[in-house]
Amino acid sequence: MLIAFEGIDGSGKSTQAKMLYAWLSKRRRCTLTKEPSRGGIGKEIRKHLASPISTDKYYHAFIQSLFVGDRIDHVSRVILPSMRKGRIVITDRYVLSTVVYGSAAGIGKAWLKEANAGFPKADMTFVLDVSEKVALSRKKHRDVFERPSFSKRVRSEYLKEARRSKGVFVIDAGKSPEEVHEEIINIVSQHIKGK
Ligand code: ADP
Ligand code: MG
Repeated sequence: MLIAFEGIDGSGKSTQAKMLYAWLSKRRRCTLTKEPSRGGIGKEIRKHLASPISTDKYYHAFIQSLFVGDRIDHVSRVILPSMRKGRIVITDRYVLSTVVYGSAAGIGKAWLKEANAGFPKADMTFVLDVSEKVALSRKKHRDVFERPSFSKRVRSEYLKEARRSKGVFVIDAGKSPEEVHEEIINIVSQHIKGK
């Protein structure tokens, strides 16, 4: 089983991924991981997020290509080996991040989707939805993709994609961490019971 956390920077993904991991690891064997991954391409991406060298469309396409490359590395090195051992994998960002950030940056959605078509599908994706103002006020550090106007576009892309995809749950992430966690474990419990 594969569970992904999505949402704009400051929406609470890392907080909720950790809380779910703590709760789930008492019941099942599970792995907590994230993108960009800890591999070589992941490290390269982090350098670009910390100090971008451009803001043009080609640079965005380059970054999203790195994300796809990192995902190939991450899936083959971490996600699939863990899933094959029967572990539940929780990932902080996954395919949907590339689709929504890429498309908010003006890259064609058809390419973004095609480039991600071969990866294992997440069984559950939680989109932590909060206004860009609240999200940004929670974070001191912002990277190149998280100017308020851009985050607003990303947020609406997330909501658009969530409406047309199965297994994507939009969670009101403006509530307290405990309330958000409660909502998530309700959905995860039902899913596990149904298996
Ligand atoms: P993300 O990984 O999506 O960028 P984080 O989990 O790092 O978000 O959370 C960003 C900041 O907001 C952290 O300081 C975290 O403690 C705080 N935070 C997380 N969830 C909530 C919440 N539901 N309400 C208020 N603050 C939160
Ligand atoms: Mg985070």
